Amino acid sequence: MNIDIEKVRGLCDASRNQQIYVDDIIIEKGAINQLPDILQKKYGQYKNIAMVCDDNTYQAAGKKVEELVPGITTIKLDPNGLHADEHGVGAMEKAMEDHKDVDFLIACGSGTVHDITRYYAYNNHLQFLSIPTAASVDGFVSTVAAMTWHGFKKSFTAVSPCFVLADSEIFSKAPSRLTASGVGDLIGKFTSICDWKISHAVTGEYISMPVVEWEQDILKALIDNLDGIGSGDFEAYENLMYGLLLSGLAMQMIGNSRPASGAEHHCSHLWEMATINEPIDFYHGEKVGVGLCMVSAVYKKALAKIKSGNYTVKDHMDVETDFIKKYFKESLVDSILEENTPNIMADINGDLLKSKEAEIIAILEELPSSEQIIGWMNKVHAFTKITDLTLPESLRPLTLKLSPYVRQRLTFMRLLKFYDFYDEIIGE
Ligand SMILES: [Zn+2]
Repeated sequence: MNIDIEKVRGLCDASRNQQIYVDDIIIEKGAINQLPDILQKKYGQYKNIAMVCDDNTYQAAGKKVEELVPGITTIKLDPNGLHADEHGVGAMEKAMEDHKDVDFLIACGSGTVHDITRYYAYNNHLQFLSIPTAASVDGFVSTVAAMTWHGFKKSFTAVSPCFVLADSEIFSKAPSRLTASGVGDLIGKFTSICDWKISHAVTGEYISMPVVEWEQDILKALIDNLDGIGSGDFEAYENLMYGLLLSGLAMQMIGNSRPASGAEHHCSHLWEMATINEPIDFYHGEKVGVGLCMVSAVYKKALAKIKSGNYTVKDHMDVETDFIKKYFKESLVDSILEENTPNIMADINGDLLKSKEAEIIAILEELPSSEQIIGWMNKVHAFTKITDLTLPESLRPLTLKLSPYVRQRLTFMRLLKFYDFYDEIIGE
């Protein structure tokens, strides 16, 4: 099940400088055995290769890479407390100190190993090949490294892998929690797309319809394959990986995470900042999945209110500076205020929102209900409740109100602040 990279490349809009940086992607059983051949034929100019993994992914695939590529340098990171943050990068930099001659990298692991590798690769002008060991996240082919830097969730310019070798024999054996996390990240596109479409309808923000259509196809295929993932079917796993990688390519093409990240991701980012909650240690897709369930429930309530026609909208909505200062910890307030300058809703007013009512209704109608989404997620035992993340239910309303400020990106969750039923549907 390979991705037709040339077809994807063909969808790029040259006038917008859209590009695909990956040479090729292979998703199949036993794909890892093609590694020596690929290295020799495509990247033969590189002589000193290092593989980055952790103790777990070394067992899952790293050992095999060592067998296939004799003489490779192995950088094994300690998986305990390993995150894509300044500590993870520090551990990698320290390990590389004795290997300054390395001219090509292989990331062998899940999302964290990839983000650390892509960050290091970018800063040291290296290329890297990706061997994902779990279908856990859609960021394998990302050009940005999603890092937590001194407590603040930040996206750094980094590099995409030049090649992805996804062996279903390897990633289908990953712990089921990682796979469920991949489902959470991918199914989260329901609200990401919804936010993108509504923002486009209201502000005229650029949207790529080919990308939206291909994401809708990915979601359909994902739903069709959930039973198979639940029962351990190989093809269903390959399909999940296919969807995750395609979603990553969508971001690569657009040049930012807009196609794959909306209000559901903002919930996740807020919790990661540990500003209204104690730090939690869950996988990216687990947090995104819970965010999706919360956000989709609110969007459907908003739909009912808007359809009733019985509502009013404010004429303008300022950034809630006092609210931000009250709930973000002091060390984050300045960067959050900076993130919200200028106010992304400065040019939006009540009349504009009213005039877009029919379009907003049509977009929200397409969104499945939260009950439907939860039913799908239950098939793979994915997290669906805020309490699954050990967070109290009482944090749900505050999460929904505060999280739109973590990014300079318009979502329907942010727009809802204009509506008079806002507090009623979100809860106090
Ligand atoms: Zn994500």
